Amino acid sequence: MSGDPDQASTLRRAADEALRYREQLPASRQAPLHDFAAMRKIFSEPTPEHGAASDAVIADLVRRADGGLNAMSGARFFGWVIGGSHPAGVAADWLTSAWGQNCGNLQASPAGAAAEDVAANWLLDLLNLPRESSIGFVTGATVANFVGLAAARGAVLRKQGWDVERNGLFGAPEITVLIGEDAHATVFSALQFLGLGYERVARVATDDQGRIQIAAFRDALEKCRGPVIAIAQAGQINTGAFDPIGEMAKMTRARSAWLHVDGAFGLWARACPSRAHLADGMELADSWATDGHKWLQTPYDCGYAIVKDADAHRSAMAIAASYLPASAAHERDPAHYVPELSRRARGFPTWAMIKALGRDGIADMIERHCALARRMAEKLRKAEGVEVIGALDLNQFVARFGADLSPEESDAMTKAVISEIQRDGVCFLGGGAWRGRQVMRVSVISWATTESDIDASVDAILSAYARVRLKNAR
Ligand SMILES: *Cc1c(COP(=O)(O)O)cnc(C)c1O
Repeated sequence: MSGDPDQASTLRRAADEALRYREQLPASRQAPLHDFAAMRKIFSEPTPEHGAASDAVIADLVRRADGGLNAMSGARFFGWVIGGSHPAGVAADWLTSAWGQNCGNLQASPAGAAAEDVAANWLLDLLNLPRESSIGFVTGATVANFVGLAAARGAVLRKQGWDVERNGLFGAPEITVLIGEDAHATVFSALQFLGLGYERVARVATDDQGRIQIAAFRDALEKCRGPVIAIAQAGQINTGAFDPIGEMAKMTRARSAWLHVDGAFGLWARACPSRAHLADGMELADSWATDGHKWLQTPYDCGYAIVKDADAHRSAMAIAASYLPASAAHERDPAHYVPELSRRARGFPTWAMIKALGRDGIADMIERHCALARRMAEKLRKAEGVEVIGALDLNQFVARFGADLSPEESDAMTKAVISEIQRDGVCFLGGGAWRGRQVMRVSVISWATTESDIDASVDAILSAYARVRLKNAR
């Protein structure tokens, strides 16, 4: 018998409320009702002096949070790059919390460690990456980039006879970091955390879709003296474009440089036979960062740091302490591949999602998202003054409204259209900047999205655009 008399009612209430939320989601507004300031008021009260019954606390939480939730797991949510939190992943994640496993080492949670170990092998198989690679289960691609680049930093300096894990960067040979002009902000964060500096990089020119220009990369690499880390991108967040990673890898290999790939969503093209050509040659890189909470549809937080040289991975992350059970060399302690010691058992939702979708289900879903993104783009670009930017061979693109007007008027109009869409609430879309201009960003990446969601969203977008144009004409 549990010490909390409310255990059963609390957990059941959470399950009931979750189900209620999920079931009304398709019909509900796809944008939050209240903003942060309003929600801050709804949540605030003096520090609780006395406890309360758990089930009443959960009921209170639900009541307060409701109006400030964003329908990120909804079928018509196209903001940022947000997976749909599939029910199988959510349920496995609930159990992960309920089981309360600390997935630090394999003696502590044999089940948690085994689920990770098996899911890691499945991921390498699905993504068709070198099978000897090791995988750390992290919070997302930001930390996966950090882990991959930490392994890179250690490996390139070890070749110079420098042990950075032991001695730090003071006095170490200087590393040159090569990175594309259109790399994701989180890669710069990783460089910042690692003492490599987000500005102390050599930026490589990109083309109109944000892809690294291979000639510029060759020139930059030839100029390098000393150890080199090159960073490529699979899936630019605005255009969905891929750097020429296969060609880059041949050059970095010849130069004994390390090639890291930020493939937060784009790496998954390799799990879809009709898209795999986009990511050709990526298996020649040294490390890869990707997310579970984007295309694999696990709930937050879930990402994977994949490193071909498992020893370099382990050297960068391993933790040793006298009170921690030492595992044998061939055993995979989860904590040796991630920055944290104590953490949730992320292998369970990953294992459950791969089982729930299967290899063919993952491939079909990716294929469908790419087709749906193209469908939306083709419909939008037929309207007067709508410009669509992106290769349209993946699931991402950006659009501008009032492209027939001056750049400044078009920026203002695009912003106004985004606000109007969010006010309307049929679908959710956000903004961003591309090549110095305001754009609306579109990412189709939820398991729940269907053709009719796309068509309803196109109607909502175009009528928001018509309203804004009408207002401007007055
Ligand atoms: C989402 C994304 C990231 C960051 O991933 P998180 O899961 O938010 O940490 C990095 N790179 C790219 C290309 C992304 O799309």
